[in-house]
Amino acid sequence: MDPRRFDVVIVGARCAGAATGMLLARAGLRVLVVDRSRYGTDALSTHALMRTAVLQLHRWGLLEGLRAAGTPPVRKTTFHYGDEVLSIPIKPRDGVDALYAPRRTLLDTILVDAARDAGAEVRHGVRVEGLLRLPAGRVCGVLIRDRSGGCREVRADLVIGADGCESGVSRMVGAQTTLEARHTSALVYGYWEGLPAEGYHWHYRYGVSSGMIPTNDGLTCAFTAVRPHRFAQEVQDDMRAAHRRLLLEAAPEFSSAISTARLIGGCRSFAGRLGFLRRAQGPGWALVGDAGYFKDPLTAHGISDALRDAELLARATLGGSDRAMARYEDARDALSRPLFEVTDAIASFDWDLASIRTRHRELSRAMTHEAQALLALGPGLSPPDIVSEHPASAA
Ligand SMILES: Cc1cc2nc3c(=O)[nH]c(=O)nc-3n(C[C@H](O)[C@H](O)[C@H](O)COP(=O)(O)OP(=O)(O)OC[C@H]3O[C@@H](n4cnc5c(N)ncnc54)[C@H](O)[C@@H]3O)c2cc1C
Repeated sequence: MDPRRFDVVIVGARCAGAATGMLLARAGLRVLVVDRSRYGTDALSTHALMRTAVLQLHRWGLLEGLRAAGTPPVRKTTFHYGDEVLSIPIKPRDGVDALYAPRRTLLDTILVDAARDAGAEVRHGVRVEGLLRLPAGRVCGVLIRDRSGGCREVRADLVIGADGCESGVSRMVGAQTTLEARHTSALVYGYWEGLPAEGYHWHYRYGVSSGMIPTNDGLTCAFTAVRPHRFAQEVQDDMRAAHRRLLLEAAPEFSSAISTARLIGGCRSFAGRLGFLRRAQGPGWALVGDAGYFKDPLTAHGISDALRDAELLARATLGGSDRAMARYEDARDALSRPLFEVTDAIASFDWDLASIRTRHRELSRAMTHEAQALLALGPGLSPPDIVSEHPASAA
């Protein structure tokens, strides 16, 4: 067998790419996953998982690894609308008895390890610099450069861009943008010792929002979000001080804890970026995760959707036909649009405490629909759940 020929090459080895690679390798395909970053590194992202993400990790047999690494269970979500408090317990259902917010260094590593265990070749420190095409234009592989500076061609039936919102694959295939957001939030986050860590806390006050997310090592990941122009004013001197100030403004009920809590390490920031939906597939290529669908982080839903779409795309790939790929795009779009629209409205900060509640009810309905759609797929990827027409998986 030609060592430079794969059924699928995936660009990007984080939640979208590693999960897709794992599923395809489990189904027997020859998969190469490459990432220019190093194994086990962090990402610019908070990491609150919603029910569908936990559902996926449970279905894939990976939840135990998160628990074993000491990721604390989140058994309730508390919304703070000004001074009003609404606490909602996480109902045990479909194998999900709690939510989790693992550090990306843990979550992405678990997914990469699972992809390797399934037989995928995963290579870090490898950058995709170009695409190979057949004379008619169909994508048929990638040009990669490794750390030594060496360049080589790798051929594949399908190239998947899981390379994040600045996706080079989407640019090289000319994936059309089909929907654009109008609003973006800007946010700062950091890791705190001594903040209340009982479940997720989401805070909303006029023009400011924050979240407290219990995570590994006894720390709480807290973020504060505002409109971008205010962000630019707030963070110009001292980002840590700005983060603490905004946290006190968004969550004054925790002021004594915030005053005594310790911010561990530096803060990271996201200055804003408009969301988008791009075409998800074309001849010889597909996009998954942020590469094809990015929305504002304020609803903390990107990882959940990446894991959702990893499964939709893996099933379509195993389907082995253009129709199956078109169905992937349709399913992704149908599930994503309601989440996208409500996220855009929330990111606008153009709400009052009554209307943000209405938005949250819309968000909750969209998430319920999303979970039902995933459950309707049934467990496992291999026949009889789907009848695979892909020659490699039939072998
Ligand atoms: C500030 C912030 C907070 C967030 N908070 C949350 C949250 O709480 N919950 C949540 O669910 N989501 C959150 N998100 C969204 C979440 O981070 C993304 O949706 C998620 O990371 C998407 O995963 P991905 O695998 O598609 O892309 P990424 O995580 O961006 O990974 C893409 C990978 O592709 C690699 N790559 C790129 N180009 C190349 C190339 N040419 N060759 C090789 N490799 C390449 C990169 O090195 C990278 O590792 C947040 C996002 C931001 C910005």
